[in-house]
Amino acid sequence: MDTVDNNCIFCAIVAKRASAEIVYESAGALAFMDIHPIVPGHVLVIPKKHFRNLFDFDDASAQELMRVERVVARALRSAFEADGLTVLQSNERAGGQSVFHYHAHLVPRFFSDGLLTRPEQLHGAQKRVGDGWGRAEIVERIRAQIKDQ
Ligand code: 5GP
Ligand code: ZN
Repeated sequence: MDTVDNNCIFCAIVAKRASAEIVYESAGALAFMDIHPIVPGHVLVIPKKHFRNLFDFDDASAQELMRVERVVARALRSAFEADGLTVLQSNERAGGQSVFHYHAHLVPRFFSDGLLTRPEQLHGAQKRVGDGWGRAEIVERIRAQIKDQ
């Protein structure tokens, strides 16, 4: 897999061909402000290598990304005296992804912010995917597809 995609805006930010308000950079990851912040302090954390999303991520990059997420999360909590923080990471269009270079949204949270507090509030959760399947069948379908390598 290529580590750079010349048509990718986040690869351009990594290469400094496109500008961004970078808050932290390590050998393998980059953290910068989202161009359309949900709240002040909304940061994106990305691996420097081009991965489309979680489906093709590698372990070394994931480890480094998590380290940087933790560093930035603590900085955000201190900088804004946040009550909490939500990490949002979307995969493929159906999952809400619009930029196809892996990224995690770090969103400082406040009791007063009115944003969602529970996963079931995603998309209103009007329609329950998988309704009609028994819980045991759902667990079995997932276990049968686990490929741990
Ligand atoms: P997604 O919808 O894929 O989870 O999130 C993509 C995010 O990237 C959006 O929140 C959007 O505002 C942000 N974004 C898109 N293009 C740019 C850009 O060129 N620079 C920055 N800093 N953020 C961007
Ligand atoms: Zn990219």
